Amino acid sequence: MTDGDALTIDDEILARARIHAREVVDEQDLEIDLSALEWEVSARAKRRAGACRWNARREVATIVLTRRAYERYDWTEFAAVVRHELVHAWEFQRFGESGHGPRFHEKAAALEAPRHCRSFAEPRYVLRCLEADCEWTATRHRASKPVTAPDRYRCGACGGSYEVEHADSGRTWTTSSGYGGAKSALGEEW
Ligand SMILES: [Zn+2]
Ligand SMILES: [Zn+2]
Repeated sequence: MTDGDALTIDDEILARARIHAREVVDEQDLEIDLSALEWEVSARAKRRAGACRWNARREVATIVLTRRAYERYDWTEFAAVVRHELVHAWEFQRFGESGHGPRFHEKAAALEAPRHCRSFAEPRYVLRCLEADCEWTATRHRASKPVTAPDRYRCGACGGSYEVEHADSGRTWTTSSGYGGAKSALGEEW
């Protein structure tokens, strides 16, 4: 991909995101000052599909959208990311702070935006052998049996036991009850 192509994609991302933001503001009565909202595209971000920064001194929110996510997602999915970041921008502009608390949740639900900034490229689970001299690891995107019941399976290289890590949170388990415990401890963050 040449720089020229990359520029065109970034321009397209920003144009579509801005149009979508305008629709959301008009149709959902989202009280956002679009003139105090800036947009950027990140060519480097690998995990987050989007982010929102707040400059308290200038009182300007900046939504950063990830080029890789735009290339990977269909528009419906990517538009939901834009709405998620718009909720952050709304919180920053109105309250000077933003998180994923009840106020965020309520607004995100009204806009049909996902509650969490989903990471998109990383596998959700990492399997790692526990034997000292074995380097075996594997990744899984879904909670398949080797993820939910690692005590019933063995390392793919040495036959030893392995642990499973939930990549987003870093929580690990080695048994099916450990999986259940990690899952319920994380709740909404799962
Ligand atoms: Zn978020
Ligand atoms: Zn092993």
